Amino acid sequence: MSQLIYLDNAATTKVRPEVLQAMQPYFTEIYSNPSSVYSFAGKSTKAVEEVREYIASMLGVKSNEIYFTAGGSESDNWAVKGAAEALKSKGNHIITSTIEHHAVLHTCQYLEKNGYEVTYLDVDENGKVSLEALEAAIRPETILITIMAANNEIGTMEPVAEIGAIAKKHGVLFHTDAVQAFGHMPLPVQEMNLDMLSASAHKFNGPKGTGFLYIRNGIKLGAYMHGGAQERKRRAGTLNVPGIVGMGAAARLAAEEMEERRKKVISLREHLIERILKEIPYSRLNGHRTDRLANNANFSFRFIEGESLLILLDQQGICASSGSACTSGSLDPSHVLLAIGLPHEIAHGSLRLTLSEETTREQIDFTVDQLKDIVERLRNMSPLYEDFLKGAGANVQ
Ligand SMILES: *Cc1c(COP(=O)(O)O)cnc(C)c1O
Repeated sequence: MSQLIYLDNAATTKVRPEVLQAMQPYFTEIYSNPSSVYSFAGKSTKAVEEVREYIASMLGVKSNEIYFTAGGSESDNWAVKGAAEALKSKGNHIITSTIEHHAVLHTCQYLEKNGYEVTYLDVDENGKVSLEALEAAIRPETILITIMAANNEIGTMEPVAEIGAIAKKHGVLFHTDAVQAFGHMPLPVQEMNLDMLSASAHKFNGPKGTGFLYIRNGIKLGAYMHGGAQERKRRAGTLNVPGIVGMGAAARLAAEEMEERRKKVISLREHLIERILKEIPYSRLNGHRTDRLANNANFSFRFIEGESLLILLDQQGICASSGSACTSGSLDPSHVLLAIGLPHEIAHGSLRLTLSEETTREQIDFTVDQLKDIVERLRNMSPLYEDFLKGAGANVQ
């Protein structure tokens, strides 16, 4: 099969043709800097403000609570460092979870080196944060709770509304990294008592390097980028007009097609999960069985190295991702898989497949067929598997 089968939509998604089409005039025709005075600049301003209003309407917030950024990592950095700095006279304690994206985790670790204290809440075997543990961790000096809406590796959705209620009760700010969730599920910010929310366009068919941070009015978060007066003096820099327009077009498509896409993707995901668990021995599904992102399936296969799996899948044109971070220069398995209690050797044999609205049943079936074959081949070369078989035989006798 020479066709590319892209099952890594948690890493990034394809820019939809409608999105590219919406962006194009803002490179070559309406290329004005929205900060300028002449009416030509007003055309860029108008486009940007329409996106701000549309995104705000999706979240049920005011348009002046949306700040454009250069993506999810920037939004997370701004929310966490900004809250830490703005509230340092009130306290120095932050609560997060052990399964956050590195954009939040490494930011928290940076703050720990600068006088802040961070509680990293454990998650259960499905990847869920405990509300009791969260409430018990709140101290008088707690200034921020930052817990993701949905996990990028195992797909588990966190109880955001319940966390929001606890945060509100204790008067603590609540930020959520919704980079995997925005555009994929409804996020009623008021009902969820969210004070800040991060999102990134390239995770919902928009362009890379564009995102936003929602900041509830009244929160005195300082400027993240110093310079010009853009974004109400809180995020300097000439606005990425084509990027923002593309994010707006992608957000609109995502909102309009959300239910339809979810239904389709969930049914394919279920087919994938059922086939794998049934047809590949010693396999398990990681993450919550039902409370998970529509497009996410994450498996562990015993006696296998995830990296070898990825290479052999790649030879068949299948793009996937593994639970070990070898690609990033470390041999440690993913912090998320360890946090849900997987032993190192099982975490190493993990595979994340994330679907899109363009994924077909034929692609899923082809992938499962290849996977069955690859897993068997790798196991046949594995001394661990050989030992296991001998051991199992001994037990039976
Ligand atoms: C991708 C991702 C990010 C980072 O977003 P970028 O736009 O790539 O910087 C942050 N958090 C989560 C959960 C993600 O999946």
